[in-house]
Amino acid sequence: SREEPGSVHIPQAAGKDPDPAHSSPTAGEERGLSRGIWGDVEGVGLFRTEFLFLGRTEAPSYEEQVAAYAEVFAEIPREAGPVVVRTLDAGTDKPLPFLRLPEEPNPALGVRGLRVDRLLPGVLDTQLDAIAEAARRAGADVSVMAPMVATPGEAAAFAGRARARGFARVGVMVEVPAAALRASWILREVDFLSVGTNDLAQYAFAADRQHPGLAGLLDPAQPALLALVEMCARAGLEAGKPVGVCGEAAGDPLVAPLLVGLGVTSLSMAPVCVPLVRDALAGLTLEECRERARTAMDPAR
Ligand code: PEP
Ligand code: MG
Repeated sequence: SREEPGSVHIPQAAGKDPDPAHSSPTAGEERGLSRGIWGDVEGVGLFRTEFLFLGRTEAPSYEEQVAAYAEVFAEIPREAGPVVVRTLDAGTDKPLPFLRLPEEPNPALGVRGLRVDRLLPGVLDTQLDAIAEAARRAGADVSVMAPMVATPGEAAAFAGRARARGFARVGVMVEVPAAALRASWILREVDFLSVGTNDLAQYAFAADRQHPGLAGLLDPAQPALLALVEMCARAGLEAGKPVGVCGEAAGDPLVAPLLVGLGVTSLSMAPVCVPLVRDALAGLTLEECRERARTAMDPAR
C-alpha cells in the first residue's frame, strides 16, 4: 500500500554511485531480493499504523494490534531491510474515532500524534507492546518513531518507553519547526530523525496542508522548508546519526536531489515513486545535488 513506502538510502554520492547496489535497477536481484517493490528499495521508511484503524469506533485490542502488525511484517522479506513503524498519528486529517478525542477549535494545533499520550496514557504503551510482540513473532527488524514531536523532552520520554520494550533503534519525526530548531538536542535522545515535510511545511508556513488555495506556500522546494531540512541534516551529520525525509517531497524527482544536497541520508516514498527518483539521483553527483540545493535556497527566490 501507499502507506508502506520503500526507503532509499543515499550513499556518499547521489548518482555516479560508488556502490552499484544503490543505483542499478538490478541491484535487488544481485542482492538476492525478489523483483517487485522489494528489489529496488531498502526496507520500509514509514509504516503509518493509524491507517489500519481509520474510522474505527472501537479501540483495537492489544491482540488485534499484534495480529495486524505481524501480518504486515510477514509481507516484508527480512533481507529487504528494516521497517520503521510510526506510532499512531491521530487527529485532524487522520481521525481515529475510537480515541474519542475532545472537539477542538484548532485540531491541527491540538492533541494529535504523540500528544494523545497526554490525554490517554496507555494507548501508546499498548501500541509499543503490540509492535514489539509482532516484531518478535514475525522475526522482523523493526524501529519505532513518534509523530508530532516538538521538544527534546518529548523525544526523551518516547525513547525511554520504546527502549524499555527492547527496540534497538528509536526515532522521532520532525514535523514541527521547533523540533527542527532543536534537532541537535533531540538527536541526543534518539537514534534517527525522519523529517515529515508535509506537516513541517504546514507548520512552518502556517498554511493548512489540505487547503487547495495554499499549494504555493506548501511547495516542498520553498527555501524556508529546505532550510529546516538542512538544520536537521547538519545535526545528523554532527551526531553521526541518520536523518531521512519521509514526506511526499522525498518522492518528487525534482525535490529529492535538493534533499540529498542538503545532507539527508535516506528518502522514504511510495513504491511507485522509486524508479523516477532513482533515475533522477543516478544522473547527478553529490556535488551537483549540493549546487541545486544552494540555488534553490537563493534568498532572492
Ligand atoms: C509528513 O507529515 O510529512 C508525514 C510523512 O506524515 P503524514 O503525511 O502522515 O502526516
Ligand atoms: Mg505528518
